[in-house]
Amino acid sequence: MPEAQPLIDTDAVVVGAGPVGLFQAFQLGLLELSAHLVDALPYPGGQCIELYPDKPIYDVPGVPVCTGRELVESLGRQLRPFDVPMHLGQEVAEIGPSGDGRFLLGTAAGTRFRARTLVIAAGAGAFQPRRLKLDGLETLDTTQVAYHVADPAVFAGRRLAVVGGGEAALEQALRFAESPDHRAGRVTLIHRRDVFQAPADRIDRMRALVAAGSMDLVIGQVTGFDAADGRLRSLDLTLTDGSVRILNAEALLVFFGLSPKLGPVADWGLAMERKQLSVDPSDFRTSVPGIFAVGDINTYPGKKKLLVSGFHECALAAFGAARHIQGREPLLQYTTTSSRLHALLGVDGSPRSGSAG
Ligand SMILES: Cc1cc2nc3c(=O)[nH]c(=O)nc-3n(C[C@H](O)[C@H](O)[C@H](O)COP(=O)(O)OP(=O)(O)OC[C@H]3O[C@@H](n4cnc5c(N)ncnc54)[C@H](O)[C@@H]3O)c2cc1C
Repeated sequence: MPEAQPLIDTDAVVVGAGPVGLFQAFQLGLLELSAHLVDALPYPGGQCIELYPDKPIYDVPGVPVCTGRELVESLGRQLRPFDVPMHLGQEVAEIGPSGDGRFLLGTAAGTRFRARTLVIAAGAGAFQPRRLKLDGLETLDTTQVAYHVADPAVFAGRRLAVVGGGEAALEQALRFAESPDHRAGRVTLIHRRDVFQAPADRIDRMRALVAAGSMDLVIGQVTGFDAADGRLRSLDLTLTDGSVRILNAEALLVFFGLSPKLGPVADWGLAMERKQLSVDPSDFRTSVPGIFAVGDINTYPGKKKLLVSGFHECALAAFGAARHIQGREPLLQYTTTSSRLHALLGVDGSPRSGSAG
C-alpha cells in the first residue's frame, strides 16, 4: 500500500483527464470553482491520445479538422488560465462520504482529496496495459516482466526482450540499446510481423541498430517461458514459419498498448445501466447528490458518445456542481462580454482588429 499523503481540499475533483474531463475543469473554472484532475494515464487526453492521436476529427464545432492530439493540446491551452493541478498516472480507487457533506477520494498512488463535489469523466474506464497471456507469467514480479518502465536502472545491464510493434516498444528497445546510462546487456525486439507503427525516424534507427548488430529483431510471438526461483531465464519464441526458438532473457518488457477497464467506478455505489452511470440530463447528476458524470461514462435517454455531447454536458454539470456547493443558481456570463471572466482568463476582451464591426 502506498503511504497516505496529506488531504488536498478542493471544490471539485474531476476523475478522468480525457477531452471531456479537461473541458469540465475549464467550465468549473469559469464558475470560479477550484478543481483537481486525476487520470490513470501518465498524460491527459484519454481516447484521443491513446486510440487516435494522429487521426483527423471533423465534427468539433468551429474546428473543421484537427487530430486527436491537436484537440487535446487546444483543450490544455484553453484550461491553462485556471492552473488546474493534474495528478497523472494515478487511478482513483476509492470514493466515500467524508461525514460533513463532502467526499473523500483516494488514488492507488496514495493521493487523497476532500472535495465538495465530484465529476466523473471516466470514459470507458481507466486505461490499463494489455497483458501477455501466458500461464504462470503473472507470478513473476515487475523486475522480471513489466508493462511500463518506471525505473530504467532496474533493467540496465540485463538481457532484455521487448515485445510489441508500436511507438512504446520501439522507444524502450532503442533506449536500452543506445542509452549510455541504462544500456542493456542485449536487447531483442520481438514483434509478430515486420511492420511497425511508430514515427519513421524511430523505425529507421531500430533497423540501423539491427543491421549494425547492436540489437536483435525477431519476427514471431512469445509462446512460453522458463523461470526458476522467481527469475526469468528464457522465452519460447514461435516464428512465422511455426518453428520455436529459445531466447535467453532476464527480463521481458511488454508493450501491447492500453485498453480501458471500467474498474473501480463500478464499486462506488452509483446507479448504473449497462456499465454506464445513470444521470439526469438536466445537470448530469448521478444517483448520489454532489456527484456528476459527463462524457462517455454516462447514460441517459438519447445519449450519444460524441465529443460535442460530452462538452455540452460539462457546461451543465459545472452549473449543477456550483448549485450543489453554493445552494443557489450561479450567474450565467458570456466570455465575450464579462469583465469578471476576462480577469479569470487573463484576457482584456477588447475587440480584435479585423473583426466585423
Ligand atoms: C477511434 C475513435 C475515433 C473517434 N472519433 C470521434 C470523432 O470523430 N468525433 C467525436 O465526436 N468522437 C469521436 N470518438 C469518441 C470520443 O473520442 C469520445 O467520445 C471521447 O473520447 C470521450 O471523452 P471522455 O473524456 O468522456 O472519455 P475518455 O476519452 O475515455 O477519457 C477518460 C479518461 O478517464 C480516465 N479514467 C477512467 N477511470 C479512471 C479512474 N478510476 N481513475 C483515474 N482515471 C480514470 C481514463 O484513463 C481516460 O484517460 C472517437 C473514438 C474512437 C475510439
